[in-house]
Amino acid sequence: MQNASNTQEVVEIDGSLGEGGGQVLRTCLGLSLVTGKPFTITNIRAGRRKPGIMRQHLTAIQAATQIGEAEVRGAKVGGLELEFCPCIIKPGNYHFSIGTAGSCTLVLQAILPALMVADGASEVILEGGTHNPMAPPYDYLANTFLPVLSKMGVEAGVKLDRPGFYPAGGGRMLIQIQPPKRLQPIVLDQRSDVEISARGVCAELPGHIAKREMDVVQRRLGLAEEQVELCQLDKYGPGNYLALYVRSEELTETFSGFGEKNISAEKVAGRVVKEVQRYLASGAPVGPYLADQLLIPMALAGGDRFRTSGLTAHALTNMDVITKFLPCRFDVQEVDDRVWEVRFIAFVEHP
Ligand code: AMP
Repeated sequence: MQNASNTQEVVEIDGSLGEGGGQVLRTCLGLSLVTGKPFTITNIRAGRRKPGIMRQHLTAIQAATQIGEAEVRGAKVGGLELEFCPCIIKPGNYHFSIGTAGSCTLVLQAILPALMVADGASEVILEGGTHNPMAPPYDYLANTFLPVLSKMGVEAGVKLDRPGFYPAGGGRMLIQIQPPKRLQPIVLDQRSDVEISARGVCAELPGHIAKREMDVVQRRLGLAEEQVELCQLDKYGPGNYLALYVRSEELTETFSGFGEKNISAEKVAGRVVKEVQRYLASGAPVGPYLADQLLIPMALAGGDRFRTSGLTAHALTNMDVITKFLPCRFDVQEVDDRVWEVRFIAFVEHP
C-alpha cells in the first residue's frame, strides 16, 4: 500500500516485541505521522490476555488516520495486523469518541507526538474513560505529563468536562496544543525537596472508601489534614480513584490507585503509598510511567537525559520501537540499584 505522496521505505514491526502491548502500536502511529514513514505491524498486542486491536486502539488508529490523511488497512476490532501510510500532519479541531470506557489519554498518546510538532495549533475532544487502571489518568496528564512538555516548549492545556471511570466510561476531556517553533531538549537528572498532597475521589460510592484510603496515606506518609482532599461526586460513577502528587521544583509526579471489587480501600491506598515511597527513596525525578512516556518527546527534541526510579519493560520496548523510526539510540546506565539514567543519542544532527 502506498499513499500518493509517500514513497518512503516501510517500517516493519512485530507487535509482540518486548512488552507486546498497545504502546507498540501507539508509538508506531505517532512516529509514522511525525516521520512520514509508513509501517506495517503484525502480532498486535500479542503479549496481552486478549490480543489484537480493541476499541481504544481502533479509535487511536482512526484519530491518526484523520490527522495524517493516512491510508490504512486492517483497522478493525480484533485485528492482529495493520498497514498504515500517512500523508501529512493536519493540525486543527478534532473530536474522537471511543464508545467504551477505553482510555482517552492512551488515544492521545498516539496523536500527541504529531500534534506537538505540527505547523499549527490543535484542539482535541476525547470521549471515553478518563480514569482507567493501566493508563495515564487525567490527573497524571494534567499535573505531570503536560507540564513537562510545556518545559520543552509545547503550550498544552487540558480540561476535564466530566470524568469517566471503568467500566461505565462516559468521560470527556478537551486538550489544546500549540507546538513550539522547536522542541527544547530537557534534562531531568535531579530532584529538589518535595511536597506531597493527596486526593481521594468517590463517584456514586460510599464516601468512607476514599476516607479510609486517605487515612492510610496520611498515616503512612505523615501528611497533615490540609495536605489531603476528599471529593464526593453524586454522578459519573461508580468509581473510586486516588492520586498522590509529589511536587518538586523540577516536576510533579502523580501516583494513582483505583478501587477494585474485593480489594480493601486500605490495600488500594497501601499499594500507591509503596510506589511513592520507592520514588522518594530513589531521589530520581522521573517515575517509572513518565520514563516510558518521556522517550518520544525526548527523541523529537533530539536530546537529552533523565534519571528514573524505575526502568520498566514498557520503557525498554518503547526505546526499541523509537529506534526503528528514528536514527538514534538510547544509552541506559544503572546509577545504583534503584536509579537508571537514560540518555538520547541522535545519529544525525537535529534539523
Ligand atoms: P500499554 O500497557 O502498552 O497499553 O501502555 C500503557 C501506558 O500507560 C504506558 O505508557 C504507561 O506508562 C501508562 N500508564 C499505566 N499506568 C499508569 C499510571 N498509573 N500513571 C501514569 N501512566 C500510566
